[in-house]
Amino acid sequence: MPELPEVEALAAFLRERVVGHAVARVDVLAISALKTYDPPVTALPGLTVTGAARHGKFLDLDVDGIHLVVHLARAGWLRWRDEVPAKPARPGGKNPLALRVHLDDGSGFDLTEAGTKKGLAVYVVRDPNDVPGVAGLGPDPLDASFTADRLREIVAGKRTRIKGLLRDQSVIAGIGNAYSDEVLHVAKVSPFKIAATLTDDDVATLHDAIVTTLRDAVGRSRGLEAQDLKGEKKTGLRVHGRKGEKCPVCGDTIREVSFADSALQYCPTCQTGGKPLADRRLSRLLK
Ligand SMILES: [Zn+2]
Repeated sequence: MPELPEVEALAAFLRERVVGHAVARVDVLAISALKTYDPPVTALPGLTVTGAARHGKFLDLDVDGIHLVVHLARAGWLRWRDEVPAKPARPGGKNPLALRVHLDDGSGFDLTEAGTKKGLAVYVVRDPNDVPGVAGLGPDPLDASFTADRLREIVAGKRTRIKGLLRDQSVIAGIGNAYSDEVLHVAKVSPFKIAATLTDDDVATLHDAIVTTLRDAVGRSRGLEAQDLKGEKKTGLRVHGRKGEKCPVCGDTIREVSFADSALQYCPTCQTGGKPLADRRLSRLLK
């Protein structure tokens, strides 16, 4: 799933390629992906793209005051095309096309979504805040207002595990399953730690880990073509998705434990005092 760094890079990519061009045509192939009807998608052709931005994990294309807001969800992606095929797009295939945007110079981009569980969402709105997911976002971790003090206010009194808190878009915007694993590994904090029990020093370390991890990832992604971003995300991760591999910091074996609807990866030596976390789902099954 694309998280803050990848969406930030996609926004930068679109700023370079799309801003200044007029939309020629929009093909909606997956009707279910389009979540709004007013203004209609047909309002876009003829208008010029004036900006591209990111809100959390949402991508926002400003088309002369009408916003095309996209959430790529788990398996959605943006594919740039220097030349959009003239033939009308057909649905189906391994990476089914959900939406295609044609620009005035013949270029354009596709929004695709793999898999059977569909989550890709497209909104056409007059104000990005008309999208409930955007309106409900917490502070952006790359914004100057996201200070260690702000994070201290956020964790205060929260009796939830820090892993879940970091992924909660209404608490902090843009961090998902992958970068929360990375941030906690950098900060040397257990993913199961209860947020409210973090000391002031822990919070300062965690804040630093959030900002540097995301900034580094954004820096690595900058200037990359849309199709290269996924590979860059994978190679840049130190623990996420690396179960059984060696921790690059201490050499211990990276472990995995189930969490919420998926799994998380962590290093026992770096994060949990050398003790593996109990897999609650597994121990429940064994009872
Ligand atoms: Zn380690």
